[in-house]
Amino acid sequence: MQFKDIVGQRDIINRLTAVIDSGRVSHAQHIVGDERDGSLQLAWAYLQYLCCEHRQHYNDGDLRADSCGECPNCKKISQLMHPDLHFIFPNPPNGSNSVSAEDYMREFRDFMLSTQALGTLNDFNETLSGDVKTSMIRETDAANIVKVLNMKPYEGGWRMVVVWNAHRMNASAANELLKTLEEPLPQTIILLVDNDDKRLLPTIESRVQTIKVKGEGLKFKVEENAEFAGMLVGWLRMLFKLKMKELSMQVDKMATLNREQLKLFLQYAMKVMRDCFLNTAAGMECHLGSGDEKFDSQFPKMITTNNIELVQSAIDDAIFAIERNAYAKIVMMELSFRISKALKKR
Ligand SMILES: [Zn+2]
Repeated sequence: MQFKDIVGQRDIINRLTAVIDSGRVSHAQHIVGDERDGSLQLAWAYLQYLCCEHRQHYNDGDLRADSCGECPNCKKISQLMHPDLHFIFPNPPNGSNSVSAEDYMREFRDFMLSTQALGTLNDFNETLSGDVKTSMIRETDAANIVKVLNMKPYEGGWRMVVVWNAHRMNASAANELLKTLEEPLPQTIILLVDNDDKRLLPTIESRVQTIKVKGEGLKFKVEENAEFAGMLVGWLRMLFKLKMKELSMQVDKMATLNREQLKLFLQYAMKVMRDCFLNTAAGMECHLGSGDEKFDSQFPKMITTNNIELVQSAIDDAIFAIERNAYAKIVMMELSFRISKALKKR
């Protein structure tokens, strides 16, 4: 997981990489945000950057730095195969057998990789059998954290533990963990992650540095996936060029989405347009990341004070029509014309 794969959060990310570069990494941090806001992604990318052997620094773009994605540490962390990276998460009790997060590690890894760390605890629980309502982080889990942090690191670098949904830690687990938080060992880092604005036990909370992830901007990440992004860029390029045959093909593709998906897609499109406008208005670079440099640099500049409202109301109307079960192809075609007309008014 690289920072570039995370939507939004640029300010937080840039602050985090600056702190890591300065070598003043806090040994215990609590990353908190709203549900599905990418806080687990942030923890993942953070540790990858921390361990990266060839950190990349940029002079332009919205990120000041990122991990290289290529070095052995990056590869191991992105595949969740790094021997010094450990995950603890709520897990269901299994009758009289003493179970811990370790017993569900394979499922957790699959879950992380398949959702790119955007799933919720409910999503994860659905992949498990057992009484998930009573999923907790228990004393055994905390003892495992203490154990791995005390071990000699395999790779000679950082020993890392991510505690996902840390608010699900019971009191005995918290007690077990306290000493480690109070007397940190060198080269160890614990990231407590909550996808939910739940409070930690005060004893724990007072010993960790809190990083607030702002949900704004990332709300859309929920629905955003490669398919949406690719579709949007494809569509905008057609609007930009207004080649009818290709535009019509693109509209057919979008019309295959079901109503709910199409609505989410339009909300996503609205957000991207607004971001283009805000960034351009503020004189900042806005990068769409389509892979087409010319389109990426020119399109955002086409959304100005002269047409942002037209674009916005065109998309609003389309969402309204979709909600009222209008024929998707016609709605999307009409929307395409309205936006393309608006773009000419820049
Ligand atoms: Zn690297």
